Amino acid sequence: MRKLAIFVIATILILAMVRRPAAQSAPYDLLLRNGLIVDGSGNPWYRADIAIRGDTIALISPSITSPASRVIDVGGQVIAPGFIDIHTHARRGIFEVPTADNYVRQGVTTLIEGPDGGSPVPLAPFLAKLMLCRNRSTSAASSDRGRFGRPSLAT
Ligand SMILES: [Zn+2]
Repeated sequence: MRKLAIFVIATILILAMVRRPAAQSAPYDLLLRNGLIVDGSGNPWYRADIAIRGDTIALISPSITSPASRVIDVGGQVIAPGFIDIHTHARRGIFEVPTADNYVRQGVTTLIEGPDGGSPVPLAPFLAKLMLCRNRSTSAASSDRGRFGRPSLAT
């Protein structure tokens, strides 16, 4: 459970930082030092630093010394790819939280909806409404950024 919490924290930090504009002088936007990398390949974990530029992992190496706009020493916490939830009913509340922060904060980055056979048909209007809600949500939240640069869900 502790490792899941650690993973979620690291994932949130990664997702928060990829939205920030890069500083002109630093080659990386975010550098996570001293992570335990669990890459999802089935191989054992390993210690490494991760450098991120924009929305892309630019480098994974035992020690990265290049400068970054932001450096976080994760102190041995687990860094892993996002989880895929293959059976959700996320459609029920997705228009209230169209950025799906409730999933992202648990480390879930991909959702499969409709596995029981029910889906909005035709799908295009549903997705258009979702994008409209998402765009409204992210623009409204731009002035209400939380600690990690994400919209605050605290009430
Ligand atoms: Zn179900």
